Amino acid sequence: MNVEVVDAQVAPVDANVLAQSATPASSSEVLEKPASSFTQGDDSSNCASDVVDHSNKVNLLGMTRKELETYFETIGEKKFRAAQVMKWIHQLGVTDFNEMTNLAGSLREKLSRLAYAAAPEVVHREYSNDGTRKWVFRVGEGAGSLVETVLIPADGRKTLCISSQVGCALDCSFCSTGKQGFQRDLLPAEIIGQLWVANQSYMEDTPVGERTRTVTNVVMMGMGEPLLNFEPVVASMQLMLDDHAYGMSKRRVTLSTSGIVPMIDKLGDQIDVALAISLHAPNDELRNELVPINKKYPLVELMAAARRYVARGAPLSDKSAQHKAVKAKMAQNQAVNAADDQDDALEPSRKKHVTIEYVMLDGVNDQPHHAKQLIQLLNDLPSKINLIPFNPFPHAPYERSSRNRIMAFQQTLSDAGYVCTVRMTRGDDIDAACGQLVGQVADRTRRAEKWKQKIVEHQNSTNTTAESTSGQRREILRTRGS
Ligand code: SAH
Ligand code: SF4
Repeated sequence: MNVEVVDAQVAPVDANVLAQSATPASSSEVLEKPASSFTQGDDSSNCASDVVDHSNKVNLLGMTRKELETYFETIGEKKFRAAQVMKWIHQLGVTDFNEMTNLAGSLREKLSRLAYAAAPEVVHREYSNDGTRKWVFRVGEGAGSLVETVLIPADGRKTLCISSQVGCALDCSFCSTGKQGFQRDLLPAEIIGQLWVANQSYMEDTPVGERTRTVTNVVMMGMGEPLLNFEPVVASMQLMLDDHAYGMSKRRVTLSTSGIVPMIDKLGDQIDVALAISLHAPNDELRNELVPINKKYPLVELMAAARRYVARGAPLSDKSAQHKAVKAKMAQNQAVNAADDQDDALEPSRKKHVTIEYVMLDGVNDQPHHAKQLIQLLNDLPSKINLIPFNPFPHAPYERSSRNRIMAFQQTLSDAGYVCTVRMTRGDDIDAACGQLVGQVADRTRRAEKWKQKIVEHQNSTNTTAESTSGQRREILRTRGS
């Protein structure tokens, strides 16, 4: 994120809002020191990555089972140690090798010398009244090296939205992260570390022996384009699915992409997870404008790749269904995953589908003719549609579609036989919108003087800003000719 965008985030905040945010109903903390050095109750959810010098040591947190097995062999140990250590780290949240009581003393000592297990540093966290939780992680030096993670509870699930890159190169016109530009890819430990920290935030007051993992679903829908950071993202998702790590059902891990066509095929070659496509427009002309990667991979190619991905998910065979049923019985302390497995067992012919994400932009892609085009486009693709009310951010050239417009759009799609949901916006009191908390945290970690200066600048320029934003939008509508 560059300075310009950080500044832009400040602009619309007026003094009253600032005053209110000083005493929020929800809990919000900017952590000035590494979270690991806080006492229990402040935040013990991070490990000592920034307190202890880890140079010349290897971080085990992001290693897949295979990688960890190889690692143990290279240090002269048996490879079954990998599963033991994974369980401690990922299932019990223990990263101090000295606490891993089923390892021999000599191995604990050796691991302490050669390795560590650490998530990235938490610099800010917010726990909302509605159960939403957000974290901002620092993954390097400078204001631009921040990524965010959001946990949203709904319908008995806890869904974690994970970032895959710092910023994003693809510059979708409605996306705050896109406006920040691309900084760098996240490492596997920085990706899986987000899940580790989220689970840890529920475990920290529980004795090790009684700990269970809380996050039930993961969506790769945070900052960045996951298919452009392919290997680390796939490695992290393998850990999510691995029974020795998070043991999540493959239906509960979703990768969202703006449509990097060759990588969709590669994804299907390597792992079986749910796929979401950020479509946002039903024709190439409009999609080129909203999602510029469409110029490289137009809709006809994207739809074909989505169909190929779905076609790989053959119905479960009877044998597989029986296996699932047994597994479901065994998974007694993983109630949610067990329910998934039971569903699969009861309904072995259930077909895979793709989730189509469609952001609702007022007057841009939300008209009746867009809904009809969408129906035609998705005609032969098993899909569910998720309408996302646009999350505005400062200087965005769009506005959110009205509730009535969204409902009408949904109705048209439902009438055509599609399962079409509208994403509820949760965690509004802590800005649970893509890329937006990061901007605010970067602001908050600056000096108070900077705040005051920006507020004054904003008050002086409010009218100009409002005019130029709506002017930009009018220009977009004019160039589209609608
Ligand atoms: N890069 C990937 C995943 C991250 S974006 C992708 O584009 O799919 C996750 C989702 O948030 C995408 O569907 C994206 O289009 C949506 N999104 C981004 N900015 C948004 C905004 N301002 N309002 C609503 N949805 C937004
Ligand atoms: Fe990148 Fe996704 Fe944002 Fe587009 S919507 S800029 S692909 S993060």
